[in-house]
Amino acid sequence: MVTAAAGKSAAAVPIWTPCFAPWRLLGKKANVMTGGHELHDTIAGLTRCEWAGNDPIMIAYHDEEWGVPCHDDRDLFERLILEGFQAGLSWSIILRKRPAFIQAFDRFDAQVISNYGPEDMARLLANTGIVRNRLKIESAITNAQAFLNTQDAFGTFNAYIWAFAPDIPPLRPSSLSDLRSTSPESDAMSKDLKRRGFRFVGSTISYAFMQSIGLVDDHVETCFRASGNPHATLAPR
Ligand SMILES: [Zn+2]
Repeated sequence: MVTAAAGKSAAAVPIWTPCFAPWRLLGKKANVMTGGHELHDTIAGLTRCEWAGNDPIMIAYHDEEWGVPCHDDRDLFERLILEGFQAGLSWSIILRKRPAFIQAFDRFDAQVISNYGPEDMARLLANTGIVRNRLKIESAITNAQAFLNTQDAFGTFNAYIWAFAPDIPPLRPSSLSDLRSTSPESDAMSKDLKRRGFRFVGSTISYAFMQSIGLVDDHVETCFRASGNPHATLAPR
């Protein structure tokens, strides 16, 4: 029997996105959909930002995604929404649920999400694969409309969001304790996002978003990803 859910099988959801192609790094092939984060021998044991810890899914995220400049609107929207869902939870939980989020939220197609109605709300609240928080789910739908409006106003969300990049890159943190949770730029971003109708975009969430998408590079001095150009180990696109 064909059900509505069958039309959204995990296999139908592509994992490749312009800002998240794990195999760009050192030829490594990670399978984020199955959690098969087998670290490449040559990068195991390298010094990383402490927050990456020993959890393979966190290490993969740190090594391949965090702080790498992202300029794709769909990816930016996904990352902003996931940061909002993270509030009060650990990031590793969000990473583990990410494939389910991508599937449940129609691959973070803002146009589709902005048209979600009560049935979609019920579907999402019943989905144990994601974070079932009514306020957060409602905010994702609200944010989809705000995102589309911002795209209309600026041409792309990328153009809008990158205008908040610091004019002068801040000093690289020397240790985890140097990492800040907000900045004047994240304060400004948060204020403007809220003015445009976005929710779950406080300054702390905005700063985490800035770190994630590479508006700031907060890899600590001793981290192997801090050596020189953050793109140095990535293949040309
Ligand atoms: Zn790092």
